[in-house]
Amino acid sequence: VADPGLDCIAGGSAPLGTAEIVAVGSELLTAFRLDTNSLFLTGRLNGLGIEVRRKTVVGDDRAGIRDALEGALARTDLVILTGGLGPTDDDLTREVVAEALGLALEEDATVTEGIRRRFAARQLVMPENNRRQAMVPRGAVVLENVNGTAPGLLIERGRKMILLLPGPPGELQPMADALVAGPLGSRAGRRRLARRVLRVTGRTESHVEQAVQPIYSRWRAWHPPIETTILAAPGQIELHLTAGAEDEIAAGGVLEVATAELAAVLGADLFSTDGRTLEEVVGNLCRARGLSLAVGESCTGGLVASRLTDVPGSSAFFIFGVVAYSNESKTAALGVPAETIQLHGAVSKPVAVALAEGARRRGRADVGVGVTGIAGPGGGSAHKPVGTVVIAVAGPANGLSVRSYSFPGGRSQVKHQASQGALDLVRRALLDSDDAIAPARVPHAHAPSRHDPPE
Ligand code: ATP
Ligand code: MG
Repeated sequence: VADPGLDCIAGGSAPLGTAEIVAVGSELLTAFRLDTNSLFLTGRLNGLGIEVRRKTVVGDDRAGIRDALEGALARTDLVILTGGLGPTDDDLTREVVAEALGLALEEDATVTEGIRRRFAARQLVMPENNRRQAMVPRGAVVLENVNGTAPGLLIERGRKMILLLPGPPGELQPMADALVAGPLGSRAGRRRLARRVLRVTGRTESHVEQAVQPIYSRWRAWHPPIETTILAAPGQIELHLTAGAEDEIAAGGVLEVATAELAAVLGADLFSTDGRTLEEVVGNLCRARGLSLAVGESCTGGLVASRLTDVPGSSAFFIFGVVAYSNESKTAALGVPAETIQLHGAVSKPVAVALAEGARRRGRADVGVGVTGIAGPGGGSAHKPVGTVVIAVAGPANGLSVRSYSFPGGRSQVKHQASQGALDLVRRALLDSDDAIAPARVPHAHAPSRHDPPE
């Protein structure tokens, strides 16, 4: 191995500060599969204050795996290899690691027995090639796989640690959690990395940057300093804050103060300070206020309803969603007057309002949402180009908000941004509804609300 003298260092207790992840699998080098295990592992490692310095993806080939392992071992304290622990010929990780470290592979009878039992429980006889999964490098600790046959392996080399974890995420994740609670957690240093994801709507990336740069630039001088990253996604801007401190409370505490500073300048545009999605925030607001929702969608094709029902426990607030795509169905399913469509066009404020009110009325919900727009690529005009979307929210009580938007991008981006706009308009309506000192929201159907920007 590339780190000579490794074995001379008395190890075991020195904290693991840095890690590299090696994802093994030829499918991960194709256009069809993405290495997601490293994202999960990075989250868990960061939680222990272990910093991931490099990630490598290699195919199922001996030279590639060995090269990645040796490079990683020379650079970092902890190397995690995922995948390639299966029973087939192209699963090489176990053999290559044993060979590189000069460890003999021996069959572990307990592991073989465990695999045999797993097969027996499914009325199957264990194929002989599964014995490969019971081969353990001498001195390695066997890690139980609650969801599969391939056990994980933990190897200590001096003060370094090497982990071999199975590729399937459902097998890897519980194993990683057990490691965090056990041997990995006890080898981590006291230093902790705290991260917070803040989410903003209603502002562009540069507007967010303009508002928050004077604030976060000061944080670099704080103890501990805070690293800030701004990430733009369609319909939402994310601020990622990271602080490393000697303990969890110090790292978390400094981010708490920083979050409050951002909340003061971003106001209601900051919708999440704990990583929650917009639909979760809307769901929580509905539940907290005991309000129900119904949705009448056109161009989003059910995406708003789909996102709302992604929230666990959504039956507590979500009543129904209708996709009324044709003009006739807008009238038949949600009572949108045919004359309104005739007069203003399907993509118009009066139709969005009628969709919202129809959904609210027919769903007997406290709040109705209407979405109509032109997702493209066809159907646009000079007056209403592709990306024009009108969203209305009726309720709670006699509130009404209606807004029209011009979203950039192709069909799926327009649909996504429209769903984001709809959820956000609901969120703001719910926030306003219990804001006693806020100016009254416009109660009449066709008058623009104060959410309505000049067109
Ligand atoms: P098995 O015992 O199931 O064969 P294995 O450790 O050999 O486990 P692989 O055969 O390499 O794992 O992969 C099994 C499955 O897990 C495949 O569907 C693969 O795409 C997926 N997988 C492997 N590595 C990753 C990764 N890094 N991220 C996400 N999925 C992965
Ligand atoms: Mg594989």
